[in-house]
Amino acid sequence: MKETYDAIIIGGGPAGASTASILGESGHRVLVLEREKFPRYHVGESLIPFTFGPLERLGMIPKMRSSCFTKKYSVSFVQPDGHRSQPFYFFNRYDRETVAQTWQVTRADFDLMLLDHARERGVEVREETSVQTLLTEDGRVVGVESVDKAGNVSRDYARITVDATGKEAFASKQRGWRVNDPYLNKIAIWTYYKGSKRGEGIDEGATTVAFVPEKGWFWHIPLQNDMVSVGVVAEGKYLTRGGVKEPRAMFEREVGENLWIKDRLSTGECTGEFWVTSEYSRHSRYCASPGLLLVGDAFAFLDPVFSSGVMLALKSGVLAGDAIHEGLLAGDLSPARFASYGAQIREGVENMRKLVYAFYNVNFSFKDVVMRYPEAGDLITDCLSGDLNRDYSKLWNWISEFAPLPETLPYGLPLEEVAAAS
Ligand SMILES: Cc1cc2nc3c(=O)[nH]c(=O)nc-3n(C[C@H](O)[C@H](O)[C@H](O)COP(=O)(O)OP(=O)(O)OC[C@H]3O[C@@H](n4cnc5c(N)ncnc54)[C@H](O)[C@@H]3O)c2cc1C
Repeated sequence: MKETYDAIIIGGGPAGASTASILGESGHRVLVLEREKFPRYHVGESLIPFTFGPLERLGMIPKMRSSCFTKKYSVSFVQPDGHRSQPFYFFNRYDRETVAQTWQVTRADFDLMLLDHARERGVEVREETSVQTLLTEDGRVVGVESVDKAGNVSRDYARITVDATGKEAFASKQRGWRVNDPYLNKIAIWTYYKGSKRGEGIDEGATTVAFVPEKGWFWHIPLQNDMVSVGVVAEGKYLTRGGVKEPRAMFEREVGENLWIKDRLSTGECTGEFWVTSEYSRHSRYCASPGLLLVGDAFAFLDPVFSSGVMLALKSGVLAGDAIHEGLLAGDLSPARFASYGAQIREGVENMRKLVYAFYNVNFSFKDVVMRYPEAGDLITDCLSGDLNRDYSKLWNWISEFAPLPETLPYGLPLEEVAAAS
């Protein structure tokens, strides 16, 4: 079989672009196939402090610093009655010059920057090209079949194919590896406002999470050009109560019931477009199989309440890129080589997932945990900030006195490993 590329990457979002950049940096032959033409719209604008590490590894920090993205120094929480907590400033815990300042990014611009960065490192990118089939030989993925917007079909071959297709999870869906999280099934409705009220100085770019009764929440993310991303997330049956089904009507009813959000948006103008997504939080049983590796949301997608998605996408791209690079040098890309990659990403997902479960428990509040165990405060902050590959067992013991925590899902090994272990 003719191997034109060392790696083919399906999808040019943060996970795919970062995998490509790492491989391009080392001179590997890399092809990214992306269905859309960038810049393209994407939700998910708020970064968390520990995104700094992967961005630094990618060499993106100078570009981020000279970008027009809004700087984010803090997060704060608002009760349904409008009472707002003091902002939590990241510099109270982390280095001011690095981790403590992150960004709110318009994803069309941010994702284009990442993809261009990969291009600068020699990566070939074909946009408006949709992958339709994984090509296999004796069970091993050897390449892909894709179609461009003119309808031309191409076949490309590589030593490894990376699925970075985001929530669509092309490969894991096709292979029946995709599993819905047992409890994290919510609906999100969101839109954008121009000219609404925002904080000043270092508070201008603060993320605010405003609670909605029955454990729902609003995000309020100030972006550049006086725009704000604002969305509500809750159980479908709560948002549609009384038979309300139209996204704008559902959204406006919740705004009407949340004093803080209502006040913030009162001076702004809605762009008029509403997006809806449902039933998120999904996992792939495996991270890899012969010739195939999964990154970003295509590997695991977690409820966005703590804005961990882009950090995990970039981190998985960097780790996957490094693991593939080492495999290419060793002449061995067998699935077993990706066991450590899969375990690291799953550890991070599981740590964040526990906090997400606790958050959605109706009887739970982080404040109660910290009142009983003051040491828990720093651990919660670290986990929420994205420092995910650490032992948080002490924290989980404390939190489980207040809310049941989910069992760790037994997913994320490479398929070959699982077969060998059973
Ligand atoms: C409502 C909501 C709010 C969110 N808020 C935040 C937030 O505030 N902060 C945060 O960090 N994260 C947030 N996220 C999560 C974040 O958007 C994702 O985790 C992140 O985009 C994952 O990056 P990715 O590269 O894995 O996938 P994506 O960014 O989705 O990129 C996948 C790419 O693959 C392409 N593609 C798909 N199928 C094919 C195919 N067959 N062939 C070729 N190309 C294909 C797509 O066009 C796309 O460009 C949110 C998510 C949702 C749903």
